[in-house]
Amino acid sequence: MRETEIPPEHPRAESLQIRERLVRHYKSGVVADAGLFAHGRGEAFDYLLGEKTRENALKAMEAAVAALLTARRPVISVNGNAAALAARDIVKLAQVTGAKIEVNLFYRSAERELAIKALLEKVGAEQVLGVGKAASARIPEIGSERRRVDPEGVLVADVVLVPLEDGDRTEALAKMGKKVIAIDLNPLSRTAQFATVTIVDNIVRAMPALVKIAEEFKKEERSKLETLLANFSNKKNLGEAINLINQRLSKLAEKGCYISVSQKGER
Ligand code: ATP
Repeated sequence: MRETEIPPEHPRAESLQIRERLVRHYKSGVVADAGLFAHGRGEAFDYLLGEKTRENALKAMEAAVAALLTARRPVISVNGNAAALAARDIVKLAQVTGAKIEVNLFYRSAERELAIKALLEKVGAEQVLGVGKAASARIPEIGSERRRVDPEGVLVADVVLVPLEDGDRTEALAKMGKKVIAIDLNPLSRTAQFATVTIVDNIVRAMPALVKIAEEFKKEERSKLETLLANFSNKKNLGEAINLINQRLSKLAEKGCYISVSQKGER
């Protein structure tokens, strides 16, 4: 089914449209083939979470925005899936928080870097780091092309937002003393576990919500944001996400038929 052919009343219309968007960006060279598999894993967890932004995700978003707004050198790291699904809001969030944008790819290729840069520029990015020779620095402890970063971006950043990152890089960035903010639907992933703040939500919902919170928090005192961040426990928040899945599944199992539950809008 093509995006335009998906009937709006289809019970999974939104999810199918997102899939189509990824496939389109796969064909245009923005998304890697492995990115399609990664999305499938995310979809499965979104299903378990009920496909909506939960209270614990909102709390994590507030801590994430507090970290970005109080950072000296915040950077938003962008891969193919993140660009395909949230380019416009990534640029907005960078503008509101003063963060730099850097392309960081698991499967680096000059073509993909340029395609992502072009997509970000199309929606208003003025500067995109990490493309071509600009990614000349290395982060220690991880192999392959994944370790390349921009000396003006991730290398010197104190806070890095890494939507849809892999566990090794998240661990390496945390070991370098950086605060790492992850957006990951899987609360059990290594990324989720290693990050300083993990937003367990779909990037499609999380990014616009982060922009909104950032616009509000920009008016707040720095000390208030620092306290908010200091009081945030990622371990506790991830525990809440796992509990939520657990409770939802138990409730659905008690009721029996999932389809009838979802059709009544009781998810
Ligand atoms: P890790 O190395 O952290 O253990 P992984 O190997 O399970 O991760 P990858 O395939 O590297 O995962 O990356 C995909 C991750 O991104 C998954 O954890 C998945 O839940 C998450 N993900 C995929 N699509 C989305 C999305 N749209 N929004 C938020 N998270 C997503």
